Amino acid sequence: MKHPGKFALVLGLLCVAALLLAQCRFSQPSSEDESMTPSELIWRPPTENPLLGESSLSDPDVLTLREALRGKTVVLDPGHGFGDVGCAFPDGTLCEKDVTPVLVGKVRSALEADGVTVLQTHDGQQFPTVAELNALAQSLSYDLDGYLKRLVGQYSHRTPERQAETVRTFQEGMAEDDLFNIYERSYCANLLSAGAESPASLFVSIHVNANADSSALSGFELYRCTDTPYAEPSASLSDALAQGLAAAFPQTVQRQIAWDWEEAFAVNKYPDMPSVLIESGYATNPTDAQNLQNEAWQNAFARAVADGIEYFLLSGE
Ligand SMILES: [Zn+2]
Repeated sequence: MKHPGKFALVLGLLCVAALLLAQCRFSQPSSEDESMTPSELIWRPPTENPLLGESSLSDPDVLTLREALRGKTVVLDPGHGFGDVGCAFPDGTLCEKDVTPVLVGKVRSALEADGVTVLQTHDGQQFPTVAELNALAQSLSYDLDGYLKRLVGQYSHRTPERQAETVRTFQEGMAEDDLFNIYERSYCANLLSAGAESPASLFVSIHVNANADSSALSGFELYRCTDTPYAEPSASLSDALAQGLAAAFPQTVQRQIAWDWEEAFAVNKYPDMPSVLIESGYATNPTDAQNLQNEAWQNAFARAVADGIEYFLLSGE
């Protein structure tokens, strides 16, 4: 739909606004609930975050830490979804897109219990159309072209043609189909941040890895881009996540991978905030595949990722 009528536009805007409002409303901590919620299962006082012992925060207590986290906003992205199933588990029962919303949901619960506002690009159930994203951009006076030009304009060593091509790649990535692709997710993340009470401090995309050649490969991988205005804080975020994961899973192999613009994932290049992509394990490795489907492991993983994010948020970003 290239030229939506005024009514459709207003309706679309209302739908997106309602969606955003719902996301904000649902981000209240649920500590008063009688039953055990997922957030209670993986919540622990921020003072017990193993990373904060080394922080510059003096004499932290639960109240001041939760106060410090309140008002911070983050964007989480469950990798894949919808027509894009991601990698398959060898037993044929699961795809990447089935697992990543579960992991993200648990990270979200842990963060929200500590007062962090969490926005999600999608929930595995539905995603915004490009027309809805454009309508939201218009309502927020968000200038995508201006942002892209600023983003690529910093590379003075590149030719204007190369810069224009980079912008064009992004613009051509927008398509109305059953995919919510990497460009649309990045655009969505920027709009969620632009519409939030306070701009998002970070973007984390969670995935599951696979290797057809070797079932021996296992562990975590943390990807980022070295060629964005957020290269430095993205490196700090990657370090914080690596420390959180190392504290919870000392036996698990992990790798931090920094790629330049040409190699990096789009979700590490285009978000208007520090960005890290986490590969949470290999579906093709029997132990990882078992862990990724085990709720206790999922809870520990989510807590470790939340610990890393909270450490990043509290240590000056
Ligand atoms: Zn993936």
